[in-house]
Amino acid sequence: MTKEELSDLLGGWQGYHLGTVERIQISDTKRPHTEVWIELLRNQGEEMMCSNCGNLTCKIHDWDDRWIRDLPIFDMETKLRVQRCRVKCPNCGPKLEAIPWLNRYSRVTERLAASIARLCGLLPVEHVASWFGLGWDQVKKIDKAALDLRLNPADLTGIEELAMDEFALHKGHRYATVIADPSTKRVLWIGEGRSREDIRPFFEMLGPDGCARIKAVAMDMNGGFEAEVRAQCPNAEVVFDFFHVVMTYGREVIDSVRKEEAGKCGANSPARKLIKGSRWLLLKNRENINKEKDIVKLDELLAANEQLMTVYVLKDDLKEIWRQRSAEAAFDCWIGWMHRAFDSNIKQLIDFTGRMSRHLMGILAHAKHPLHTGLLEGMNNTIKVIKRMAYGFRDAEYFFLKIRAAFPGNHG
Ligand SMILES: [Zn+2]
Repeated sequence: MTKEELSDLLGGWQGYHLGTVERIQISDTKRPHTEVWIELLRNQGEEMMCSNCGNLTCKIHDWDDRWIRDLPIFDMETKLRVQRCRVKCPNCGPKLEAIPWLNRYSRVTERLAASIARLCGLLPVEHVASWFGLGWDQVKKIDKAALDLRLNPADLTGIEELAMDEFALHKGHRYATVIADPSTKRVLWIGEGRSREDIRPFFEMLGPDGCARIKAVAMDMNGGFEAEVRAQCPNAEVVFDFFHVVMTYGREVIDSVRKEEAGKCGANSPARKLIKGSRWLLLKNRENINKEKDIVKLDELLAANEQLMTVYVLKDDLKEIWRQRSAEAAFDCWIGWMHRAFDSNIKQLIDFTGRMSRHLMGILAHAKHPLHTGLLEGMNNTIKVIKRMAYGFRDAEYFFLKIRAAFPGNHG
Protein backbone atom coordinates (compact mmCIF):
# COMPACT_ATOMS: atom_id res chain seq x y z
CA MET A 1 0.00 0.00 0.00
CA THR A 2 1.34 3.45 -0.89
CA LYS A 3 1.36 6.24 1.65
CA GLU A 4 -1.38 8.03 -0.31
CA GLU A 5 -3.59 4.95 -0.13
CA LEU A 6 -2.88 4.53 3.57
CA SER A 7 -3.72 8.18 4.22
CA ASP A 8 -6.98 7.85 2.26
CA LEU A 9 -7.87 4.71 4.18
CA LEU A 10 -7.47 6.61 7.46
CA GLY A 11 -9.74 9.41 6.28
CA GLY A 12 -6.92 11.74 5.32
CA TRP A 13 -5.76 15.12 6.52
CA GLN A 14 -6.61 17.77 3.96
CA GLY A 15 -3.60 19.76 2.79
CA TYR A 16 -1.09 17.28 4.25
CA HIS A 17 0.70 14.11 3.25
CA LEU A 18 2.26 11.35 5.31
CA GLY A 19 5.89 11.49 6.40
CA THR A 20 7.12 8.82 8.76
CA VAL A 21 4.68 6.46 10.50
CA GLU A 22 5.94 4.75 13.66
CA ARG A 23 4.59 2.36 16.22
CA ILE A 24 5.94 3.23 19.67
CA GLN A 25 5.83 1.14 22.82
CA ILE A 26 5.31 3.33 25.91
CA SER A 27 6.56 1.50 29.00
CA ASP A 28 4.96 3.79 31.57
CA THR A 29 4.55 1.60 34.68
CA LYS A 30 1.08 2.98 35.42
CA ARG A 31 -0.18 2.77 31.89
CA PRO A 32 1.92 0.77 29.45
CA HIS A 33 0.46 1.21 25.97
CA THR A 34 1.22 1.47 22.29
CA GLU A 35 1.09 4.68 20.31
CA VAL A 36 1.11 5.47 16.63
CA TRP A 37 3.13 8.53 15.68
CA ILE A 38 2.36 10.02 12.30
CA GLU A 39 4.34 12.80 10.73
CA LEU A 40 2.21 15.11 8.59
CA LEU A 41 3.94 17.36 6.07
CA ARG A 42 2.28 20.39 4.50
CA ASN A 43 1.71 19.99 0.76
CA GLN A 44 3.78 22.59 -1.04
CA GLY A 45 2.44 25.06 -3.57
CA GLU A 46 -1.21 24.78 -2.48
CA GLU A 47 -3.37 27.72 -1.53
CA MET A 48 -3.74 28.20 2.20
CA MET A 49 -6.40 30.11 4.10
CA CYS A 50 -5.68 32.89 6.60
CA SER A 51 -7.39 32.01 9.90
CA ASN A 52 -8.06 35.68 10.56
CA CYS A 53 -9.71 36.93 7.34
CA GLY A 54 -10.23 33.83 5.17
CA ASN A 55 -8.00 35.16 2.41
CA LEU A 56 -6.24 32.57 0.24
CA THR A 57 -2.49 32.70 -0.32
CA CYS A 58 0.36 30.37 -1.30
CA LYS A 59 2.92 32.20 0.80
CA ILE A 60 4.20 30.56 4.00
CA HIS A 61 5.61 32.91 6.64
CA ASP A 62 6.98 30.14 8.88
CA TRP A 63 5.94 26.88 10.53
CA ASP A 64 6.55 24.76 13.59
CA ASP A 65 5.77 21.20 14.64
CA ARG A 66 2.72 20.62 16.81
CA TRP A 67 1.64 17.40 18.47
CA ILE A 68 -2.05 16.79 17.84
CA ARG A 69 -4.13 13.84 19.01
CA ASP A 70 -6.34 12.04 16.51
CA LEU A 71 -8.77 9.13 16.76
CA PRO A 72 -7.09 5.91 17.90
CA ILE A 73 -5.97 3.59 15.09
CA PHE A 74 -6.69 -0.05 15.96
CA ASP A 75 -7.01 0.97 19.62
CA MET A 76 -3.58 2.61 19.67
CA GLU A 77 -3.35 6.23 20.83
CA THR A 78 -2.56 8.21 17.75
CA LYS A 79 -0.40 11.33 17.75
CA LEU A 80 0.20 13.52 14.75
CA ARG A 81 3.30 15.66 14.37
CA VAL A 82 1.86 18.40 12.22
CA GLN A 83 3.70 21.12 10.33
CA ARG A 84 1.55 24.00 11.46
CA CYS A 85 2.07 26.95 9.13
CA ARG A 86 1.64 30.66 9.46
CA VAL A 87 0.66 32.22 6.15
CA LYS A 88 1.94 35.56 4.93
CA CYS A 89 -1.52 37.12 4.54
CA PRO A 90 -1.58 40.27 2.36
CA ASN A 91 -4.31 41.70 4.68
CA CYS A 92 -3.22 40.62 8.13
CA GLY A 93 0.46 39.78 7.99
CA PRO A 94 1.68 36.51 9.53
CA LYS A 95 -1.37 34.48 10.65
CA LEU A 96 -2.05 30.84 11.46
CA GLU A 97 -3.36 28.78 8.55
CA ALA A 98 -7.02 27.74 8.88
CA ILE A 99 -7.30 23.93 8.69
CA PRO A 100 -10.75 22.35 8.25
CA TRP A 101 -9.95 19.32 10.39
CA LEU A 102 -8.23 21.19 13.23
CA ASN A 103 -9.59 23.98 15.39
CA ARG A 104 -7.31 26.92 15.93
CA TYR A 105 -6.59 26.39 19.64
CA SER A 106 -7.30 22.70 19.77
CA ARG A 107 -4.81 19.97 20.47
CA VAL A 108 -7.13 17.29 19.10
CA THR A 109 -8.57 16.87 15.60
CA GLU A 110 -12.20 17.78 14.90
CA ARG A 111 -13.13 14.14 14.44
CA LEU A 112 -11.60 13.15 17.79
CA ALA A 113 -13.44 16.06 19.45
CA ALA A 114 -16.72 14.87 17.90
CA SER A 115 -16.10 11.34 19.16
CA ILE A 116 -15.31 12.63 22.68
CA ALA A 117 -18.46 14.76 22.74
CA ARG A 118 -20.59 11.83 21.62
CA LEU A 119 -19.18 9.54 24.32
CA CYS A 120 -19.65 12.25 26.97
CA GLY A 121 -23.38 11.94 26.34
CA LEU A 122 -23.20 8.35 27.58
CA LEU A 123 -20.35 8.13 30.05
CA PRO A 124 -18.84 10.16 32.87
CA VAL A 125 -16.13 12.61 31.80
CA GLU A 126 -13.61 10.62 33.85
CA HIS A 127 -14.27 7.43 31.88
CA VAL A 128 -14.06 9.16 28.52
CA ALA A 129 -10.76 10.78 29.57
CA SER A 130 -9.32 7.46 30.64
CA TRP A 131 -10.56 5.72 27.47
CA PHE A 132 -8.68 8.14 25.23
CA GLY A 133 -5.75 8.72 27.60
CA LEU A 134 -6.58 12.42 27.87
CA GLY A 135 -6.91 14.80 30.83
CA TRP A 136 -10.23 15.32 32.63
CA ASP A 137 -10.18 19.07 32.02
CA GLN A 138 -9.39 18.63 28.35
CA VAL A 139 -12.31 16.25 27.82
CA LYS A 140 -14.68 18.48 29.77
CA LYS A 141 -13.62 21.49 27.74
CA ILE A 142 -14.25 19.63 24.47
CA ASP A 143 -17.68 18.39 25.60
CA LYS A 144 -18.63 21.85 26.86
CA ALA A 145 -17.63 23.53 23.59
CA ALA A 146 -19.65 20.96 21.59
CA LEU A 147 -22.74 21.45 23.78
CA ASP A 148 -22.42 25.21 23.61
CA LEU A 149 -22.27 25.07 19.81
CA ARG A 150 -25.27 22.72 19.64
CA LEU A 151 -27.53 24.42 22.19
CA ASN A 152 -26.71 28.12 21.96
CA PRO A 153 -28.36 30.37 21.24
CA ALA A 154 -31.51 28.58 22.40
CA ASP A 155 -34.25 28.53 19.78
CA LEU A 156 -37.14 30.47 21.31
CA THR A 157 -39.21 31.02 18.18
CA GLY A 158 -42.92 30.47 18.59
CA ILE A 159 -42.78 29.83 22.34
CA GLU A 160 -46.16 30.81 23.86
CA GLU A 161 -46.14 28.98 27.17
CA LEU A 162 -43.55 28.50 29.88
CA ALA A 163 -43.13 26.35 32.95
CA MET A 164 -40.79 27.45 35.73
CA ASP A 165 -39.34 25.47 38.55
CA GLU A 166 -36.43 25.46 40.92
CA PHE A 167 -34.11 22.79 42.23
CA ALA A 168 -31.49 22.64 44.96
CA LEU A 169 -27.94 22.81 43.69
CA HIS A 170 -26.21 21.95 46.90
CA LYS A 171 -28.21 20.36 49.69
CA GLY A 172 -30.67 23.21 49.86
CA HIS A 173 -28.10 25.99 50.11
CA ARG A 174 -27.94 27.13 46.54
CA TYR A 175 -30.76 26.96 44.02
CA ALA A 176 -31.17 27.04 40.28
CA THR A 177 -34.20 27.90 38.16
CA VAL A 178 -35.30 25.86 35.16
CA ILE A 179 -37.51 27.33 32.45
CA ALA A 180 -39.05 24.90 29.99
CA ASP A 181 -41.55 24.70 27.18
CA PRO A 182 -44.35 22.71 28.85
CA SER A 183 -45.73 21.27 25.61
CA THR A 184 -42.47 19.62 24.54
CA LYS A 185 -40.70 19.54 27.92
CA ARG A 186 -37.67 21.13 26.29
CA VAL A 187 -35.49 22.96 28.81
CA LEU A 188 -35.00 26.46 27.39
CA TRP A 189 -32.89 28.04 30.08
CA ILE A 190 -31.25 27.34 33.44
CA GLY A 191 -29.74 29.89 35.77
CA GLU A 192 -28.40 30.04 39.29
CA GLY A 193 -30.67 31.46 41.98
CA ARG A 194 -34.45 31.70 42.30
CA SER A 195 -35.20 35.39 42.74
CA ARG A 196 -36.81 37.87 40.36
CA GLU A 197 -33.41 39.23 39.35
CA ASP A 198 -32.02 35.76 38.80
CA ILE A 199 -34.55 34.89 36.10
CA ARG A 200 -34.43 38.28 34.34
CA PRO A 201 -31.68 37.23 31.88
CA PHE A 202 -34.12 34.73 30.37
CA PHE A 203 -36.64 37.46 29.52
CA GLU A 204 -33.86 39.64 28.14
CA MET A 205 -32.89 36.76 25.88
CA LEU A 206 -36.54 36.27 24.86
CA GLY A 207 -36.77 39.94 23.88
CA PRO A 208 -39.82 42.23 23.93
CA ASP A 209 -41.61 40.44 21.06
CA GLY A 210 -41.01 37.03 22.56
CA CYS A 211 -42.21 38.24 25.97
CA ALA A 212 -45.37 39.69 24.42
CA ARG A 213 -46.09 36.33 22.75
CA ILE A 214 -46.20 34.44 26.08
CA LYS A 215 -49.79 33.56 26.98
CA ALA A 216 -49.37 31.46 30.11
CA VAL A 217 -46.66 30.61 32.63
CA ALA A 218 -46.96 27.71 35.06
CA MET A 219 -45.19 27.97 38.41
CA ASP A 220 -45.28 27.24 42.12
CA MET A 221 -47.48 29.67 44.10
CA ASN A 222 -44.76 29.80 46.77
CA GLY A 223 -41.98 30.93 44.47
CA GLY A 224 -40.67 34.38 43.69
CA PHE A 225 -41.30 34.28 39.94
CA GLU A 226 -44.82 35.73 39.72
CA ALA A 227 -43.93 39.42 40.01
CA GLU A 228 -41.18 39.16 37.41
CA VAL A 229 -43.41 37.31 34.93
CA ARG A 230 -46.15 39.94 35.36
CA ALA A 231 -43.62 42.72 34.82
CA GLN A 232 -41.99 41.15 31.75
CA CYS A 233 -44.85 39.41 29.93
CA PRO A 234 -47.83 41.77 29.54
CA ASN A 235 -50.10 39.13 27.96
CA ALA A 236 -49.28 36.19 30.18
CA GLU A 237 -51.57 34.56 32.70
CA VAL A 238 -49.89 33.05 35.72
CA VAL A 239 -50.96 29.45 36.32
CA PHE A 240 -50.39 27.63 39.60
CA ASP A 241 -50.06 23.96 38.89
CA PHE A 242 -51.41 21.08 40.90
CA PHE A 243 -48.08 19.35 41.43
CA HIS A 244 -46.70 22.16 43.57
CA VAL A 245 -49.94 22.89 45.41
CA VAL A 246 -50.30 19.26 46.46
CA MET A 247 -46.64 19.19 47.57
CA THR A 248 -47.25 22.22 49.75
CA TYR A 249 -50.43 20.65 51.07
CA GLY A 250 -48.53 17.48 51.97
CA ARG A 251 -45.88 19.44 53.85
CA GLU A 252 -47.98 22.07 55.57
CA VAL A 253 -51.22 20.22 56.19
CA ILE A 254 -50.86 16.45 56.17
CA ASP A 255 -47.44 16.25 57.73
CA SER A 256 -48.16 18.91 60.30
CA VAL A 257 -51.43 17.22 61.36
CA ARG A 258 -49.68 13.86 61.45
CA LYS A 259 -47.02 15.16 63.87
CA GLU A 260 -49.66 16.79 66.04
CA GLU A 261 -51.75 13.62 66.20
CA ALA A 262 -48.69 11.50 67.03
CA GLY A 263 -47.97 13.90 69.88
CA LYS A 264 -51.43 13.34 71.34
CA CYS A 265 -50.83 9.59 71.72
CA GLY A 266 -49.08 8.18 74.75
CA ALA A 267 -45.31 7.75 74.50
CA ASN A 268 -44.37 4.31 73.17
CA SER A 269 -48.03 3.52 72.36
CA PRO A 270 -48.70 1.44 69.21
CA ALA A 271 -50.91 4.23 67.81
CA ARG A 272 -48.08 6.73 68.11
CA LYS A 273 -45.70 4.34 66.43
CA LEU A 274 -48.16 3.71 63.59
CA ILE A 275 -48.75 7.42 62.97
CA LYS A 276 -45.05 8.29 63.19
CA GLY A 277 -44.18 5.59 60.68
CA SER A 278 -46.83 6.56 58.12
CA ARG A 279 -45.40 9.76 56.67
CA TRP A 280 -44.64 8.23 53.30
CA LEU A 281 -47.98 6.38 53.10
CA LEU A 282 -49.95 9.54 53.72
CA LEU A 283 -48.03 11.66 51.22
CA LYS A 284 -47.90 9.14 48.41
CA ASN A 285 -50.66 8.86 45.84
CA ARG A 286 -52.89 5.93 46.73
CA GLU A 287 -52.62 4.47 43.24
CA ASN A 288 -48.82 4.42 43.61
CA ILE A 289 -48.89 2.24 46.72
CA ASN A 290 -48.11 -1.23 45.44
CA LYS A 291 -48.11 -3.47 48.47
CA GLU A 292 -51.45 -4.75 49.70
CA LYS A 293 -50.28 -4.61 53.33
CA ASP A 294 -49.44 -0.90 52.96
CA ILE A 295 -52.98 -0.17 51.72
CA VAL A 296 -54.40 -2.05 54.71
CA LYS A 297 -52.11 -0.13 57.07
CA LEU A 298 -53.18 3.20 55.54
CA ASP A 299 -56.87 2.34 55.75
CA GLU A 300 -56.53 1.29 59.40
CA LEU A 301 -54.75 4.50 60.23
CA LEU A 302 -57.36 6.68 58.50
CA ALA A 303 -60.26 4.77 60.10
CA ALA A 304 -58.73 5.29 63.54
CA ASN A 305 -57.94 8.98 63.20
CA GLU A 306 -60.60 11.43 62.12
CA GLN A 307 -58.29 14.41 61.67
CA LEU A 308 -55.96 12.47 59.39
CA MET A 309 -58.93 11.08 57.49
CA THR A 310 -60.25 14.61 56.88
CA VAL A 311 -56.99 16.05 55.56
CA TYR A 312 -56.35 12.92 53.51
CA VAL A 313 -59.74 13.00 51.79
CA LEU A 314 -59.48 16.73 51.15
CA LYS A 315 -56.11 16.19 49.50
CA ASP A 316 -57.70 13.87 46.96
CA ASP A 317 -60.62 16.22 46.42
CA LEU A 318 -58.27 19.13 45.79
CA LYS A 319 -57.50 17.50 42.43
CA GLU A 320 -61.07 18.14 41.28
CA ILE A 321 -60.38 21.88 41.04
CA TRP A 322 -57.56 21.23 38.56
CA ARG A 323 -59.67 18.79 36.57
CA GLN A 324 -62.19 21.46 35.55
CA ARG A 325 -62.02 22.97 32.07
CA SER A 326 -63.86 26.22 32.76
CA ALA A 327 -62.99 28.87 35.33
CA GLU A 328 -66.65 28.88 36.52
CA ALA A 329 -66.67 25.14 37.20
CA ALA A 330 -63.27 25.38 38.90
CA PHE A 331 -64.58 28.24 41.04
CA ASP A 332 -67.65 26.22 42.13
CA CYS A 333 -65.39 23.32 42.97
CA TRP A 334 -63.15 25.62 45.02
CA ILE A 335 -66.10 27.10 46.98
CA GLY A 336 -67.29 23.59 47.92
CA TRP A 337 -63.80 22.54 48.96
CA MET A 338 -63.21 25.72 50.98
CA HIS A 339 -66.44 25.22 52.98
CA ARG A 340 -65.44 21.69 53.88
CA ALA A 341 -61.97 22.87 54.88
CA PHE A 342 -63.43 25.55 57.16
CA ASP A 343 -65.98 23.12 58.64
CA SER A 344 -63.14 20.79 59.67
CA ASN A 345 -61.87 23.32 62.22
CA ILE A 346 -58.36 22.05 61.57
CA LYS A 347 -56.03 25.04 61.88
CA GLN A 348 -53.52 23.88 59.24
CA LEU A 349 -56.35 23.39 56.73
CA ILE A 350 -57.79 26.82 57.40
CA ASP A 351 -54.36 28.45 57.01
CA PHE A 352 -53.81 26.63 53.75
CA THR A 353 -57.21 27.72 52.46
CA GLY A 354 -56.27 31.34 53.19
CA ARG A 355 -53.08 30.93 51.18
CA MET A 356 -54.94 29.38 48.27
CA SER A 357 -57.59 32.08 48.18
CA ARG A 358 -54.87 34.73 47.87
CA HIS A 359 -53.65 32.86 44.76
CA LEU A 360 -57.09 32.00 43.43
CA MET A 361 -56.75 33.74 40.04
CA GLY A 362 -53.70 31.63 39.20
CA ILE A 363 -55.48 28.47 40.33
CA LEU A 364 -58.57 29.16 38.22
CA ALA A 365 -56.35 30.11 35.26
CA HIS A 366 -55.42 26.44 35.02
CA ALA A 367 -58.87 25.65 33.62
CA LYS A 368 -58.07 27.82 30.58
CA HIS A 369 -54.36 26.90 30.33
CA PRO A 370 -54.03 23.32 31.55
CA LEU A 371 -50.27 23.46 32.02
CA HIS A 372 -48.27 21.73 34.62
CA THR A 373 -44.70 22.23 35.68
CA GLY A 374 -44.09 18.93 37.40
CA LEU A 375 -40.75 19.23 35.59
CA LEU A 376 -38.80 18.23 38.61
CA GLU A 377 -40.82 15.04 38.92
CA GLY A 378 -38.92 13.66 35.97
CA MET A 379 -35.82 15.80 36.28
CA ASN A 380 -34.52 15.08 39.74
CA ASN A 381 -33.13 11.68 38.88
CA THR A 382 -31.56 12.87 35.66
CA ILE A 383 -29.97 15.78 37.52
CA LYS A 384 -28.47 13.38 40.05
CA VAL A 385 -26.98 11.25 37.28
CA ILE A 386 -25.57 14.31 35.52
CA LYS A 387 -24.09 15.52 38.82
CA ARG A 388 -22.15 12.28 39.05
CA MET A 389 -21.15 12.29 35.39
CA ALA A 390 -20.10 15.92 35.26
CA TYR A 391 -18.75 16.08 38.80
CA GLY A 392 -21.30 18.42 40.24
CA PHE A 393 -21.27 22.14 40.00
CA ARG A 394 -17.64 23.04 39.88
CA ASP A 395 -18.56 24.48 36.51
CA ALA A 396 -22.23 25.51 36.72
CA GLU A 397 -22.29 26.57 33.07
CA TYR A 398 -21.20 23.09 31.97
CA PHE A 399 -23.62 21.42 34.38
CA PHE A 400 -26.54 23.48 33.03
CA LEU A 401 -25.59 22.66 29.43
CA LYS A 402 -25.62 18.95 30.32
CA ILE A 403 -29.12 19.28 31.78
CA ARG A 404 -30.37 21.12 28.70
CA ALA A 405 -28.88 18.42 26.48
CA ALA A 406 -30.73 15.79 28.52
CA PHE A 407 -34.08 17.56 27.93
CA PRO A 408 -34.09 18.38 24.22
CA GLY A 409 -37.90 18.18 24.02
CA ASN A 410 -40.05 15.37 22.72
CA HIS A 411 -40.42 16.82 19.24
CA GLY A 412 -38.97 19.52 17.02
ZN1 LIG B 1 -5.78 37.46 6.72
